[in-house]
Amino acid sequence: MNTAVREQSHSSLETYRRCPRKYRMIYIDDIGRGEPTDPMLRGSAVHRFAADYVKHCRENGLETDLSEVPVIVQKALKGMPDTIRSEVLALAHTFAENHTVPTGGNLYVEEEFGGEFDGIRFRGFLDLVEVGATGRVVVVDYKTDWQLRSQADVDRDPQLDRYALLAWLHFDQPEEITVALDFVRHGVVRESTRTAEQIQSIARSLVADVKQIEEDEEFEARVGAECQWCPHTRRCEAFQAAVVENTAPIMDEETAVLAAQRRAALTVALDAVNAELKPWCSANGNVQIPGLEVGFFSSESYRYPVTELIRVLKDAGMDAVPYLQAATTKVKKLLGGPAGEALKAIRKDASSTRFSQKKVKA
Ligand code: SF4
Repeated sequence: MNTAVREQSHSSLETYRRCPRKYRMIYIDDIGRGEPTDPMLRGSAVHRFAADYVKHCRENGLETDLSEVPVIVQKALKGMPDTIRSEVLALAHTFAENHTVPTGGNLYVEEEFGGEFDGIRFRGFLDLVEVGATGRVVVVDYKTDWQLRSQADVDRDPQLDRYALLAWLHFDQPEEITVALDFVRHGVVRESTRTAEQIQSIARSLVADVKQIEEDEEFEARVGAECQWCPHTRRCEAFQAAVVENTAPIMDEETAVLAAQRRAALTVALDAVNAELKPWCSANGNVQIPGLEVGFFSSESYRYPVTELIRVLKDAGMDAVPYLQAATTKVKKLLGGPAGEALKAIRKDASSTRFSQKKVKA
């Protein structure tokens, strides 16, 4: 029995679901997780701030303490790159302005919860767990990304499922656990509940997930969106094959899938090359290769304030109308307002298709 497989977290199970080969390299071969990206560092700095801020308020019997935010955020930013500073500062202020810390009940802040069942050890660091005077258990997970998920997403979020399981085991299996995603950037908290019956079912599917990993002998490499976040693209034979090998002519679905994988891998490989080339070109200038120059090129771009453009052209005896064009994204925001219907009546359809790729559920 592989004891590494018998110890799981939400993150390890999600890694397996997205790409079994990446799971094997990180959790079984133990060859590391790579350098954290700026969004990861931003997330951990904001989580650290939130934990320290909540602890500070709690220790001092305060519901809020905006005056202490600058001190606490500087601690959270220690050792972090300059590139994330301003965003973390803004998020810390938003967090402090939108949260009150309960002065009663029990609070567990960034604590590890773990449970054992069917020989599986499952654990996770929970951002915040509140146990009220009535015994109501609320598990909160902070999210610092831009995505504001719908209530339906929160109701079926697998991370909240598993965190509910951890809290349920820890607090002697209450009738239900309340779970919440706290979208720090948006100041929005979306709650949901998991009943004891649902949690038992979550535990059963977790056991089944672990058994599937234990029985896996192939650890299939799933070249696709996950490669963007994979630190092991250089070691992954499937990824490298997708980048360098010519796919067969696209004759059927199988060869079309191979070509789509190749496209995804090439996109990631190009991003990686750009990430290495950009700092070099920034410090040393552009690079020339036969028939091509790679690096930074200036492009002139100006904006003309509309009212002044109209005035200047009118003064010159010209009609400004042919030179005016409303930005679609800005006008789109007006469609839900009072002028929406009238705008829909005058708009001309310029829709087209574009060959590209977009993220979908794995
Ligand atoms: S490079 Fe892509 S396919 Fe290979 S292990 Fe990483 S995520 Fe999986």
